[in-house]
Amino acid sequence: MGQLYIDGAWTDAAEGGTREIRSPADGQLVAEVSEATAVDAERAIAAARAAFDDGRWSTVPAPERGALLLRVADLLQRDRSRLALAETRDTGKRVAESEIDMDDITNCFRWFGHLAATDDGRLVETGIANARSKVVHDPVGVCALITPWNYPLLQTAWKVAPAIGAGCTFVLKPSELTPHTAIILMELLAEAGLPAGVANLVLGAGATAGGPLSTDPRVDMVSFTGGLATGRILMANAAATVKKVALELGGKNPFVLFADADHETAVDNVLTGIFLHSGQVCSAGARLVVEESAHDRIVDELVERAQRIVMGGPDDPGTETGPLISAAHREKVEAYVAKGIAEGAVLRCGGYRPTEGALADGYFYPPTILDGCTQDMDVVHEESFGPVLTVETFTDLDDAVRIANDTEYGLAGAVFSADQGTCEEVAARLRHGTIWINDFGPYVPAAEWGGFGHSGVGRELGRAGFAEYQEPKHIWTNTRPGPTGWFPSSTQGSGS
Ligand code: NAD
Repeated sequence: MGQLYIDGAWTDAAEGGTREIRSPADGQLVAEVSEATAVDAERAIAAARAAFDDGRWSTVPAPERGALLLRVADLLQRDRSRLALAETRDTGKRVAESEIDMDDITNCFRWFGHLAATDDGRLVETGIANARSKVVHDPVGVCALITPWNYPLLQTAWKVAPAIGAGCTFVLKPSELTPHTAIILMELLAEAGLPAGVANLVLGAGATAGGPLSTDPRVDMVSFTGGLATGRILMANAAATVKKVALELGGKNPFVLFADADHETAVDNVLTGIFLHSGQVCSAGARLVVEESAHDRIVDELVERAQRIVMGGPDDPGTETGPLISAAHREKVEAYVAKGIAEGAVLRCGGYRPTEGALADGYFYPPTILDGCTQDMDVVHEESFGPVLTVETFTDLDDAVRIANDTEYGLAGAVFSADQGTCEEVAARLRHGTIWINDFGPYVPAAEWGGFGHSGVGRELGRAGFAEYQEPKHIWTNTRPGPTGWFPSSTQGSGS
């Protein structure tokens, strides 16, 4: 049974709770894991606090911290198949997709390993002859790392690697639906030589196991990836003790498509942008904003091709996309589609629950396209986080930018056009954290990831994603100290 990992030891939950993890593809039992409560969260926080305060990790020289991350990267590659299988069992996604995730995770550890190894402070010019000034980077301290189920280990890696590299200690709480790769990661961190107490793992439900992580005064920072509603709660919780917060929240990402774009490239990218991982991607291109003159040609073909995408479980070699994560999540997606239709959207394909064959055992939902959408519909401006593409049209560039920016979110967006000038102008005017030009989805660990607006606070990846886990500290040295003489009266009669 998967257990909690606290202060370098595997342990059952203090109150004996357990949870069954079931595959969303067929409902089969994957495994039982311990289910933590506040008691366990508090033990884990105490361990992380003690490990930080005695300096067992924060005082390790930066090159050694970086070297440890590189060893973890090697172990991730050694155990790539085991990790990918565990991710697939929990999420229902294809093994090939999980393997790509593991390679991305390895690259993330490598990149932060190199960055951490070479991270140093800087001297600052004071303009004063007898003063030396330098800025160094201290670790933030004890971090609560709370992660979602859609890319379980990937989202975890984006936090764990920089936290370790910066010299922090942490308590990780992965999604209660997908705990297994986080469990394996703890094994690998220990094998790589991370001291006990630096990395701690609690498993369990959000508010119960994760709640104390955002309120306990011994925690210095909350780094969270998940939904907007949870992000708001955590930010409010963190306010009382003025914790640092880093939030990666949702997105409602526009795919701006001009009529002059290469047709096949555009159609293919729209399909991948929204239907990859059944739309359970924070940066999914869920809103197609297409030039009016190209609408019929593009949408007719999207509808035809979306219906040919093969849904199935990970054991079926023909599968192209898997199930949604849970029954509750599928109900949420269904409700958004029903509301959209009630508000006037036209259902062009999908929009039903498969009831026959193997698909009936899992939480499948087919690629769905809603045409004739407008910005006031909930399905357009709220995140359904499912395989649902909404279609809106624009008349000119200004109109396209207005529609694409008309969202409280601001995570990612794409523009497709044969005219580079058009692409550059749209990219410059979009208010989103990542913009793709004639492409959709790629990212690299060296480039910052995060959102404008309600898509979050702070950045992951890149140098900024490392800096989230650091406190810059300015150290000033007077090399020829002497009295300032600022208060001359105070020296009168003192005999000096
Ligand atoms: P969620 O907010 O329901 O849960 C995320 C995590 O928070 C889970 O571990 C959950 O147990 C925990 N949690 C929930 N309530 C909590 C509480 N009160 N206190 C402490 N922890 C709590 O999100 P989800 O459904 O797991 O993930 C989907 C969401 O994640 C989507 O909105 C998606 O856009 C977002 N996401 C964003 C990014 C990004 O990079 N911006 C990446 C992946 C996913």
